[in-house]
Amino acid sequence: MKNIILTADRPTGQLHIGHYVGSLLNRLKMQNEGNYEKMYVMIADSQALTDNYGNVQKVRDNILEVALDYLAVGIDPSKVTIFIQSMVPELTEFMFYYMNLVTLSRLERNPTVKTEIAQKNFGESVPAGFLCYPISQAADITAFNANLIPVGDDQRPLVEQTREIVRSFNNLYGQTLVEPKEVLPDNEACLRLPGLDGKAKMSKSLGNCIFLADEPEVIKQKVMSMYTDPDHIKITDPGKIKGNAVFSYLDALCTDQHFEKYLPEYKNLQELKDHYTRGGLGDVKIKRFLNEILQEILAPIREKRKELAKDPKKIFNMLFAGSKEAREVAGENLTKLKQAMGIDYQNMQ
Ligand code: ATP
Ligand code: MG
Repeated sequence: MKNIILTADRPTGQLHIGHYVGSLLNRLKMQNEGNYEKMYVMIADSQALTDNYGNVQKVRDNILEVALDYLAVGIDPSKVTIFIQSMVPELTEFMFYYMNLVTLSRLERNPTVKTEIAQKNFGESVPAGFLCYPISQAADITAFNANLIPVGDDQRPLVEQTREIVRSFNNLYGQTLVEPKEVLPDNEACLRLPGLDGKAKMSKSLGNCIFLADEPEVIKQKVMSMYTDPDHIKITDPGKIKGNAVFSYLDALCTDQHFEKYLPEYKNLQELKDHYTRGGLGDVKIKRFLNEILQEILAPIREKRKELAKDPKKIFNMLFAGSKEAREVAGENLTKLKQAMGIDYQNMQ
């Protein structure tokens, strides 16, 4: 079977380095290896509305921002179909049928959704749409028969939910849908990049990000104010690596070549970590090193992004063409779904 790859981002803000290491790098690798029949990248605006329904403008504005980030990192619309979720209304119909296959208690048990509900202070007032977004993701994936989903670690329970829906559907209505598999980064540090504040996850909604579009000065400021080890007060104090966000970022991003270039007194990250743990290495030095690496990675992305941003109309035309194509595919698969369920009344004798 040839692979069909699908992945998505919520247009709730610009993309950040968490997206870059957690999902975008794997997407680019897969795009360029070419071992697929189709590859889709979706801007999940309908899903973003489930917790931003009161701020449509934010979602609306960020469609362009996310699309610019995609193109700036190298997602290539001649290889990948990039589309807007709400422009493929068939997806909501898929979702509606799948809602019968999932219980409320199963939705409430989803660990990612549980964490997000706590973060968003929904309390007892969780919108039904938000609780159901894992079902909407199942619709997005299966509407294209996608089997590979390059994502960060927080998406694992969501892809699992999709597999459960696929199995229930196939059991009830016959073998129709494909079970998807998440493709996670190989580097463990990239699975879930922490925030600048050391919180579990860098996330647009938590305001603790370095964005791909950040200017050099902003990157530097953010890095210099990062959370490290609160007990590492004097340079001579022994420092902790675990839970130290600077080292998490270095684990995710740095190579031995970066040491050669910017910090030649150490051969590799292990040597730097050993020194920090022993004591005698200050936070400023490791932060400056991280800043150099980030500046190097982000400079070409930012420059390309600025160029692309000059012609938003072109970007939207690309998104509209992608959405039209995605709609055709989802429509064909919806017909098959309804045939499997026996609700294709026009074909009834
Ligand atoms: P929001 O706060 O609106 O949910 P987000 O920052 O969590 O935004 P999403 O659009 O929900 O971003 O996630 C898009 C993709 O990026 C997913 O595959 C997700 O796993 C991945 N991702 C997001 N944040 C991180 C992170 N900090 N580390 C690794 N991967 C991440
Ligand atoms: Mg998220």
